[in-house]
Amino acid sequence: MSDVRQPVLEPGLAGARVLVTGGSRGIGRAICRRFAAAGATVVTTYRVDDDAARRLRGELGESCHVLRADVTRRADLDALMERVGDLLGGLDVLVNNVGVDGHAPLAALDTDEWDRVLDTNLTGAFDVTRAAAPLLVDGASVVNIGASVVIRGLPGKAHYCASKAGLTGMGRSLAKELGGRAIRVNTVAPGVVETEPGAGLPPVLYERLTASTALGRLADPDDVACVVTYLAGPAASYVTGATVRVDGGI
Ligand code: NDP
Repeated sequence: MSDVRQPVLEPGLAGARVLVTGGSRGIGRAICRRFAAAGATVVTTYRVDDDAARRLRGELGESCHVLRADVTRRADLDALMERVGDLLGGLDVLVNNVGVDGHAPLAALDTDEWDRVLDTNLTGAFDVTRAAAPLLVDGASVVNIGASVVIRGLPGKAHYCASKAGLTGMGRSLAKELGGRAIRVNTVAPGVVETEPGAGLPPVLYERLTASTALGRLADPDDVACVVTYLAGPAASYVTGATVRVDGGI
């Protein structure tokens, strides 16, 4: 095995119609690239960063439509689903990837900050799923991007962990609700992902985080994207209501 981090492309996704929220950068971008490489047609969204959206369009060309839509604005989501309907006619895969981070100890965690994180990570994902539901075909797959920190908890992350734990619970319930139509709903729970290698993290923290993993490295966005495309594809046709940790064994 030359490179264990370059698994084969997920088979069975050629021609799949995919919506990924927040695909202009980071993990979402890796997910869009992997679906496009597998032959899927992708619609993805962003909120403000037009430059990143332009770069992704340049990178993926006609296999990817990059649209502006804020998941916290229901009017944006209605307009988005209308465009998705026009462009794709239906959805085989929905990936709820949008999420914002937050750090605030309890004494500093005011309602505005709580709402900012919950409105985006949990209510936003719910609103996207509800708006997309009429487009989801029988046998479709929904993948929500949670976070493995939910299992352990972390000081200053009460709002972030609450939002991702909520998302995980929402996914399990929807898996039961939609299973009759063979629609599967799963959660991918990343650990620490290096979305911009070397940027942002002080060296001491970087060392500590790296050492906390069993594999001795942080995740690459593609480590997460591989698991998303696996769960979306036919190889995972009996996997639903599951949470898959992609955290290097933290
Ligand atoms: P990034 O911050 O790198 O990218 C977020 C993406 O979401 C961008 O495309 C951004 O667009 C878009 N976005 C943000 N807010 C909104 C909104 N309100 N409406 C529409 N789009 C929005 O995120 P990551 O790649 O780091 O994370 C992706 C997911 O993975 C998140 O759910 C995150 O919680 C989860 N995760 C990440 C980890 C990590 O270590 N990075 C660890 C565990 C989980 P724009 O730039 O235009 O705002």
